[in-house]
Amino acid sequence: MKKLIVILLSLFFPWMAWAQDYYDVGVKHIKVTSSRQLNDKEEMTICPMDLMEEGFFFPLPDCKILSPYGSRDGRMHSGWDIKTFANDTIRCAFNGDVVMSEWFADYGNCVIVRHPNGLETLYSHNSKNLVKKGDKVKAGSPLALEGRTGRATGDHLHFETRVDNKHFDPSLLFDFENHRLKKDCLKITKKKNGISVKKVK
Ligand SMILES: [Zn+2]
Repeated sequence: MKKLIVILLSLFFPWMAWAQDYYDVGVKHIKVTSSRQLNDKEEMTICPMDLMEEGFFFPLPDCKILSPYGSRDGRMHSGWDIKTFANDTIRCAFNGDVVMSEWFADYGNCVIVRHPNGLETLYSHNSKNLVKKGDKVKAGSPLALEGRTGRATGDHLHFETRVDNKHFDPSLLFDFENHRLKKDCLKITKKKNGISVKKVK
């Protein structure tokens, strides 16, 4: 019933779409073959407080927000764009393993880090990657330098959060205004070719 009310409100008041706590996302072409796979009935929970206990660092302190996740000019924007200045150091959000560090199409120089619970964070358009696949990294470890490689009109960081090779809105976990983590845990399940991400109150 609550969902129906939210949908109806969103129809009449589109700017209230943010009030939905339900997101479906599609398959993105960038894939890491060793990523954690979700089984059809499996539920995965990601809790920001648990991640923070292991260590947290906002990847680009003092950044400005350029563009959020979601539909942009008729195309799906798969992450958040944030910027400081060219060649600023981009740092890892949480402890983990580098599972990709290479040039990938529109992403340009791209780094993907897998964290212990299966969440992956992606950092791209880098002028230079500072890590290689297989490296162990900590929250705050330098990963790359901010740049405009790939499809980018200016120096910035394109930042994604991913599970099972599918991106979801990073602002469900990250407060980009205040450079903090949010509080709500997320429940992630498989849905058709994508994933469903719901906040757990
Ligand atoms: Zn972007």
